[in-house]
Amino acid sequence: MSKNSIVGYPRVGSQRELKFFTEDYFKGAISADDLKKNAAALRKSQWLLQKQHGLDFIPSNDFSFYDGVLDAASMLNVVPQVYKTLGFDELDTYFAMARGYQGSAGDVKALSMRKWFNTNYHYMVPVLDGTSEIRLNSDKPFARFTEALSYGIKTKPVLIGPFTFLKLADIHGNIDAFAGDMVKAYKKIFDQFNVLGAEWIQIDEPSLVTDLTKKDIGLFVSIYSDLLTSKGGLKILLQTYFGDIRDVYTNVAGLGFDGIGLDFIEGKKSLELVEANGFLSNVLLFAGVVNGKNVWRNDYEKTLKLLHGLSRHVDHERIVINTSCSLLHVPYTIKNETGMAEYCKNHLAFAEEKLAELSELKALFDDGDYSAHPGYQKNAALMQDKANEADAVIREKVAGLTENDFIRKPAFSEREKLQKKSFGLPVLPTTTIGSFPQTPQVKALRAALKRGEITQEQYQTDIKVKIAECIALQEEIGLDVLVHGEFERNDMVEYFGQNLDGFLFTQKGWVQSYGTRCVKPPIILKDIRRSHPITADYCVYAQSLTKKPVKGMLTGPVTILNWSFPREDILKEEMAFQIALAIKEEVMALEEKGIRIIQIDEAALKEKLPIRRADWHTDYLDWAIAAFRLVHASVKPDTQIHTHMCYSEFEEIIEDINAMDADVISFEASRSNLSIVDALERANFKTQVGPGVYDIHSPRVPGVAEIEAAIHKMLKKINKNKLWVNPDCGLKTRGEEETIPSLKNMVAAAVNAREKLNRI
Ligand code: GLN
Ligand code: ZN
Repeated sequence: MSKNSIVGYPRVGSQRELKFFTEDYFKGAISADDLKKNAAALRKSQWLLQKQHGLDFIPSNDFSFYDGVLDAASMLNVVPQVYKTLGFDELDTYFAMARGYQGSAGDVKALSMRKWFNTNYHYMVPVLDGTSEIRLNSDKPFARFTEALSYGIKTKPVLIGPFTFLKLADIHGNIDAFAGDMVKAYKKIFDQFNVLGAEWIQIDEPSLVTDLTKKDIGLFVSIYSDLLTSKGGLKILLQTYFGDIRDVYTNVAGLGFDGIGLDFIEGKKSLELVEANGFLSNVLLFAGVVNGKNVWRNDYEKTLKLLHGLSRHVDHERIVINTSCSLLHVPYTIKNETGMAEYCKNHLAFAEEKLAELSELKALFDDGDYSAHPGYQKNAALMQDKANEADAVIREKVAGLTENDFIRKPAFSEREKLQKKSFGLPVLPTTTIGSFPQTPQVKALRAALKRGEITQEQYQTDIKVKIAECIALQEEIGLDVLVHGEFERNDMVEYFGQNLDGFLFTQKGWVQSYGTRCVKPPIILKDIRRSHPITADYCVYAQSLTKKPVKGMLTGPVTILNWSFPREDILKEEMAFQIALAIKEEVMALEEKGIRIIQIDEAALKEKLPIRRADWHTDYLDWAIAAFRLVHASVKPDTQIHTHMCYSEFEEIIEDINAMDADVISFEASRSNLSIVDALERANFKTQVGPGVYDIHSPRVPGVAEIEAAIHKMLKKINKNKLWVNPDCGLKTRGEEETIPSLKNMVAAAVNAREKLNRI
């Protein structure tokens, strides 16, 4: 008999309960004890659900109040002194690292946040420096294990592996210097789990799927050859995901793991590696065959073929049918989708449905002749049932694109001159990224519309009131380039998805993005087309209220694609071009209505950059950058195209970012170190830039001097005629109480900086 397993389960709760408990705790509305009690109840229900589905390996410690890497940092005492000085207990110190803290105990920024590999999940970046003392500092993983035991479930505790932890941390000093203490701490963890009677421990090492250097491989091997000597009676599963481990496959074999988790969905070479090198006879293969990142039903025929292929190299009973990665990246359950057409529901599998798939797959795999099995037949019929008729018009348009469709004229430098003249903006122009705080009142408005309590007309009138207030506020603050505030948008991708044909929406399909923040990605169901105007009405209204330029705000094609669940029956490239053509129509409509600055957000462009460098261009950038260019290639020379990217970690693809050929790009820089600025200088970056001067992911209000210092730091490397001043992302998630003073301080800082520039 085979077994089945999952890498991890979502944790926000199927109704986002954890989000609300945690936010209540932040607001002081509930106590830490209540927060903990509520979280425990959530965990209990999820464990019982997994048990009910007959899962052989049920994870624990995959739960987190904010982020798993932050949990590991907290567990390993990787807590920078500034947070310790606050004198808080473990939970509040943890939240201070996550969100920053401003209050009677002090004023500290949050840790940096980074994208978790090629997903839209973010992890908190641990900091290791000369003052760090790595040691086991928490009983959380053990408490979780015992907690599950009390419900009769012996779980497989999950830990971020020491190699990945070190690779993801910001390390000041030599990485090897920290490895010894890491190993010591993990040995202690092993000891404790041995005492508690755990059988399996899952150690997540997703960093193994990245391009590894010899030094990396050396570090990995040295960590585990030492660590595994102390495993005692425990069985250790090395879990990898998001790709294949071609650089270390043969090294892994010699280290003494009891189980190896490989990803057969994203791991292009996983199968080849097993076939070419074989698999150790006494080790369990955790075969990631159920997609942890996408929402379509598993194709049983394909999966069973793969599993049977694997069983030529691995004994049947040593195969564990597994998800390709944690189910953290998919919503909870289709059961919540009461409004969705039956046809669509049949084709989808969220986390809970994937549990059912795992149990069915196991039964089919163990049954010699699965083809007679009703579960198999039902699945086979479903796979045949492809109701996605191609939209011939759209397909033809994409097929007919030629080189000129991707080239904007005239060249950048000429446009820049024209635009400087026609806009007449001051040096260091100030702007925002687009959204303003979505107050409870704005959210209530949308909810009322949804429930049919107000008419569409009433809704539009009320949104326009908000827009007028927002324009007045920006005039008062003294910003130079204004926005309408995006009050009509719940989410920058969902909004466009809802207004374009071809997307499917969920009611409760929430997926954690960072901390308590969740997104509800649309599902691309069919070919995409724009059948009606989307943004011009509100934007033109906003522009009518002010003499200052108002930016039209659009979401770019790559971001819409990357933040949706894609189809699996056509290429990403085809989907990207379809969306690009639709957004291009929006761009042209805004321009025609007199909007002179248009921002096309590509917040998620970097996020889906393939993990391995060899795939960057061929699998992604070649079409992604082209899709962006297609959107704006036909605008007039003096229409200014802005773009925004949430993360500034695009140093390595800086040429490609320049090749997007936007006129201005704003990006997050306040939470990461400013090395991007050096890279811009080195690359002779032509595009004007607005590196965020303050962090909007934290409720903290930055002071004028602090922002001014950031501007001056940037001015050392960036030509003053190329620099914009803006926050690092949209303000939607913030409250007005922190946003207004922050923006006022930002404008004051820009004014001071301009004066200083004038004096030199
Ligand atoms: N224009 C969007 C906003 O301001 C951009 C958001 C984002 O980059 N995530 O909300
Ligand atoms: Zn952003």
